[in-house]
Amino acid sequence: MNADTSSGVERFDAVVIGAGVSGLYQLYRLRELGLEVRVYERGGGVGGTWYWNRYPGARFDSESYSYAYSFSDELLEEWEWSEHFAAQPETLRYLEFVADKFELRRDIRFDMTMTGAHWQEAAREWEIFFADGSRVYARFLITAIGGFATPTLPAIEGRDSYAGEAYHTAQWPHRPVDFAGKRVAVIGTGATGVQVIQEVAKTAATLSVFQRQPNWCAPLLNRPITPEEQRRIKAGYKQIFALCNETFAGFMHQSDRRNAVEVSAEEREALFEKLYGEPGFGIWMANFRDVMIDARANALLSDFIARKIRSRVNDPAIAEKLIPTNHGFGTRRVPLETNYYEVYNQPNVRLVDLRETPILRMAPSGIVTTAGAFDFDLIVFATGFDAVTGGYSRLDLRGAGGRRLVDKWAEGPRTFLGLLHEGFPNLVTLVGPHNAATFCNMPRCIEQNVEWVTRLLARLRAQGRTRIEPTPAAEDEWTAHVLDGAARMLLTKVDSWFNGVNRNVAGRDVRRFQLYANGLPTYRRRCEEVAAQDYAGTVIA
Ligand code: NAP
Repeated sequence: MNADTSSGVERFDAVVIGAGVSGLYQLYRLRELGLEVRVYERGGGVGGTWYWNRYPGARFDSESYSYAYSFSDELLEEWEWSEHFAAQPETLRYLEFVADKFELRRDIRFDMTMTGAHWQEAAREWEIFFADGSRVYARFLITAIGGFATPTLPAIEGRDSYAGEAYHTAQWPHRPVDFAGKRVAVIGTGATGVQVIQEVAKTAATLSVFQRQPNWCAPLLNRPITPEEQRRIKAGYKQIFALCNETFAGFMHQSDRRNAVEVSAEEREALFEKLYGEPGFGIWMANFRDVMIDARANALLSDFIARKIRSRVNDPAIAEKLIPTNHGFGTRRVPLETNYYEVYNQPNVRLVDLRETPILRMAPSGIVTTAGAFDFDLIVFATGFDAVTGGYSRLDLRGAGGRRLVDKWAEGPRTFLGLLHEGFPNLVTLVGPHNAATFCNMPRCIEQNVEWVTRLLARLRAQGRTRIEPTPAAEDEWTAHVLDGAARMLLTKVDSWFNGVNRNVAGRDVRRFQLYANGLPTYRRRCEEVAAQDYAGTVIA
């Protein structure tokens, strides 16, 4: 298998779509294998999510050193994180550093938007189409588009009539945006909205936060890494990655083996208090093991967080508006915050509760709610994404016999390991739906995904095989495993992108679970078993 340009047509062993954390690593590994690989990237640079999401306040919710690639000791030694939770510019610099260090850019084409791909059975290859009208061919098509490839604007009447400055957080300009002296609105209070609100409140003349549903937020407690900590981090990388690989979602936080409903009130309060005072996702990931599955346990934790919110917001009526009442703590993605609740004590900040006064429409000068018209100089849309499967539904992906992936997934995703697809030979979806990487400290799962795929391609190559496809039975079994595991989790009972709900997108109002909630260790074990049984559940030809 080789790149063939003799006929003016480019042919590759593998084409990877996306030059973010997963695409960069997949390129590195497949090149090492001796394959001809080309990466196509929609953006003008590497970084994926960290290239696009350059809104003020964007930063890790993972400990920086747990997010780093683990595959190169040299890289681990050379790179130094400045903060426990690095901000977006630093993460982008890191990924640029990785691309330069391993000379990855020479096999990446930027500003190339893939629009679709059709499987050609006779030639056993994918014909891949781009927005500029060009096409290439590849034996394997590996999507590395992440879970957040498709930002969504709010479906509000008259949205495009607004005449002031307006930005979606994931399409942020590459120049500085100044909020000073401006009347600013932020729509959305998810993990992104919370980060941007904290930052904008510092300089805007006025900030109006349009909140449809509050989320349960917890303190990030970021700080610089001291030289002594730096030394310990570098000496301890092996243990950090080993710990992450043992935990449910690849973070440095291991769940407490006790049940919240079985311990005394004092013991319970002590753990809640301890975790609330510690940095990062411990309050979500290192809590009592029943808080994500037992509604009584979850109510105890939610009540604790509600008390914290009341203690931090001066106006009791505003505090109540900031406390979720329709879902429990951790059943949607927990935004991590730095003085988020205190922002609402500032005189320049106003909370608009859209449950009381819904938005009627947008107008050239601002936003009209049932309480009246508000004029703004700048509006930030922190309104999220058509997450996970949404990135695929915009692509014209057609498998064997011209079958479309959107049709296959019409009732929800069906996959094998979240990586391979019956009817779509040689299509590999890194971070795909029903893949552990969707609910994970991403690089930990991405490395697992990439290494598994690399071994598979090496095996096919060694035996001169050119086609792999999972069986319908293997896909049925995997889908049942994913959905059975999720059924016990409280997070499947709530509207969120976890369940594919996005009311700004037609047809996305039905809950269809898109993640993998059996945990990274189980996922890893299942993938290993499949490989050890010579890719049982697939047909290799
Ligand atoms: P999101 O969680 O989907 O939040 C979107 C927000 O916009 C919600 O508050 C939603 O309200 C609101 N919204 C959407 N449409 C609206 C409308 N028409 N009118 C009013 N409000 C509307 O999206 P996100 O905050 O961008 O986060 C997405 C994911 O990205 C996160 O869950 C996380 O996985 C990832 N992320 C990671 C980091 C990090 O690691 N540091 C940071 C940011 C984001 P409703 O809740 O009522 O729908």
